[in-house]
Formats: sequence, structure tokens, C-alpha cells
Amino acid sequence: MRLILLGPPGAGKGTQSERIVERFGIPQLSTGEMLRAAVAAGTPVGLQAKEIMARGGLVPDEVVVGIVGDRIAEEDARGGFILDGFPRTVAQAEALDHMLAQRGIKLDAVVELKVDEDALLARIANRAREAQARGETVRKDDNPEAFKIRLDAYRKQTAPLSDYYRARNMLQVTDGMAPMEEVSSSISEILSAKVASVAI
Ligand code: ADP
Repeated sequence: MRLILLGPPGAGKGTQSERIVERFGIPQLSTGEMLRAAVAAGTPVGLQAKEIMARGGLVPDEVVVGIVGDRIAEEDARGGFILDGFPRTVAQAEALDHMLAQRGIKLDAVVELKVDEDALLARIANRAREAQARGETVRKDDNPEAFKIRLDAYRKQTAPLSDYYRARNMLQVTDGMAPMEEVSSSISEILSAKVASVAI
């Protein structure tokens, strides 16, 4: 099972990915997490990404495409994966198509979490508060200024991917405003329908 989760920042991609990981036993490949790890480790990619991420902007396509290419070549991603936060631009989607074609593999599903934009800022503020309460470091980009830029990047650069995948008959949209459990069941239903025809 190879799938993409699409949706704006705060839509719940991370939460839902964790559940799919448990249910389908495939790894979650989150470019946001990979980049945050690179920043924390101070690698060349991290140094390049640090300021851009803190501001809420998008890291250059070639950097992100490079790390995804390396990651999907790893052993645990052989049987499938969930892409969370990638692709985020049409150029990234094209690069992904190319990478997959080179490996002779295909995507099975693209699931978009549709959410009400007004709810997103509240969700992000909540995430920051909860992280703080747990004594964790709050993400540098979980503040209203960076969030506005992230949402703007989503609207301009990522939202066109819905049309990209719709035109390829791959897009499935689900209501990301429903309670977490319902969103999970709805995604599971979509995926289970695919599993019938796909080796996971
Ligand atoms: P969210 O979905 O909440 O915005 P992520 O953890 O997916 O958060 O991403 C955090 C940041 O990492 C983004 O704002 C961006 O700076 C960078 N990033 C993650 N994935 C990509 C990508 N595919 N292309 C460019 N930048 C990315």
C-alpha cells in the first residue's frame, strides 16, 4: 500500500498517519519530521532548511525530493509507505511520479483531508499548548505568524495537487472536521477497498 495524505497544516495528517501505520504496518514518511531531524542534527540539509522552516516557507523542491528518494529506497519502505507532507508542489508530485516509475511501482491512493480553514489556527495553537504542557519543545513554526505563511504556501502551492491527482483518477476526499475516530474509519474504508485489489 503506497499512499499520500494531503491536507493543510493542522488537518490531522500526522495523527491519521500513525493510525494507518498501526493498521497496515507500513512506515510513515513525514518530510516535516525528516527535515526537523536534519535541523536538530545540523546536517547540510538541516542548515539549508532551518530558517525557511521557522518562517513557515517551503524548503526547495530538490532538497525535499532528494531526501524522499533516499528514504523510499530503504528496506522498510519496500512493502509500502504513507507520504505525509510530500508532495507539496506540482514539481514534487512530478518528481515522485518519476521516482516511482523508475522503480516500477505505483501509488495506490491519494487521500485528502478536507478541513475548515478557520479551525486550523485553533488546532495549531492547541498543539503548541499540549506540547508545552508535556514539557516538549514547541515547534518553531507553530505560531500565528509562521502559520499564516504555511497556510498561504498551502493554498498557492499545495492545493493544486488536488486537481493533479483528480485528473489522474486517484483523489479520494474525506471530511477532516469529523471526530478523529470517524476520520480514521473513513480512511480505513478507503484503504480497505484498495487492499482488496492491491498487495500490501
Ligand atoms: P505541517 O503539515 O503542519 O505544515 P510538516 O511537519 O509537514 O507540517 O512541515 C513543516 C515544515 O517543513 C513546512 O512548513 C516546510 O517548511 C517543511 N516541509 C515539509 N515538507 C515539505 C515539502 N514536501 N516541501 C517543502 N517543504 C517542506
